[in-house]
Amino acid sequence: MFDWWVRRRRKRLLAEPFPQEWREAIEREVSLWHAVPAASRGKLEDDVRCFVAERSWEPCGGLELTEPMRAVIAAQACILTLGRTVDAFDHVRSILVYPHAFWVPDVYEDDAGIVTEDLDSREGEAWQWGTVILSWQEVLRDARSLNGRNLVLHELAHQIDILDVLEQAYPGGGDRQSRRRLWMETFLEAFEDFTERVDSGRRVKALDAYGAEDEAEFFAVASESFFERGAYLKSHHPRLYDVLAAYYAQDPASWTLPRSRRPRPDETGRERRRRLRAEARRLRKGKPPG
Ligand SMILES: [Zn+2]
Repeated sequence: MFDWWVRRRRKRLLAEPFPQEWREAIEREVSLWHAVPAASRGKLEDDVRCFVAERSWEPCGGLELTEPMRAVIAAQACILTLGRTVDAFDHVRSILVYPHAFWVPDVYEDDAGIVTEDLDSREGEAWQWGTVILSWQEVLRDARSLNGRNLVLHELAHQIDILDVLEQAYPGGGDRQSRRRLWMETFLEAFEDFTERVDSGRRVKALDAYGAEDEAEFFAVASESFFERGAYLKSHHPRLYDVLAAYYAQDPASWTLPRSRRPRPDETGRERRRRLRAEARRLRKGKPPG
C-alpha cells in the first residue's frame, strides 16, 4: 500500500496529536501497553492511528463501536508489528465486532460420512481474505489480563504472512536464505515436539493445547504467549522464543510492567480493575499513582 496518496494521507494523519480519549481508553484497558518499552510508545501510537484509519470497522449485533474501542483493538494488533511495519496488515480490510461471542454455521462430516449442520459459538475468527471478526467482551477480558491469552493477538497473528515477514527479516539469497530455512525448520520442530507432548496427554507449560490443531494455530497461540508472558515462554521453550524474537524483532521477555500494574497476589480481578480505574482518574488530575 505504498502509493503516494497513502503516504500523504498518513503524513496528514500523523501531523495531528494522538487523541487523548484513545490514550485514556488504551491505558485503562490494555495491560500490555504498559509493558511496551517507553522508546517504542511513539511508533506504536503512530501505527494505531494508521491501523484505525485504514480499516473498515463494522459493528455487529447492535454494538456501538466507538473510536476509543477501535483504538483498544488496534493497540493490541500493532504490538505484533512493533518491530516491523504496520503495512503487514495492509490486506486486512474489515474488522467486524460483535458485543459477545457470536454464532456461526458449522458443517462437519463424521467418520461414517454423515454430514451435520450446526451452529458453533466463536469469540473470534480470521478469514483468509482479510476479514477479522471479534467479540468485544472477549477483547476486553483478554486486554486487561496478562495470562498468555489474547484474542486480538491471536486473530491478527493469523493475518500476518509468515513468508513475507521472513523475507523482510532475512532478505536476499545465499546465507540469508539458509537462515530463513533454519527459522522454518526450528519452528516446525517446536510444533512437532509440542503436538507430541499434547497428544500423549502431557501438560505443556506456557502454551495453550489448542495450538496442536495445526501449524497456523500453533503460531497464533505461541504469539499470544510470546508477547503476554515472554519471560515464561522463554524459560520453558527457549528455541521457540528465539525464533519468534527473530521473527517479530522484539524481546518481550525483557519487558516489565510498572509496579502499579502488576497483579497483587491478594487482589481479586474486580478489586484490581477498581484500583486501576482510580489510578487512571488520579493520573488525569495530574497526581502520581498511589
Ligand atoms: Zn486461531
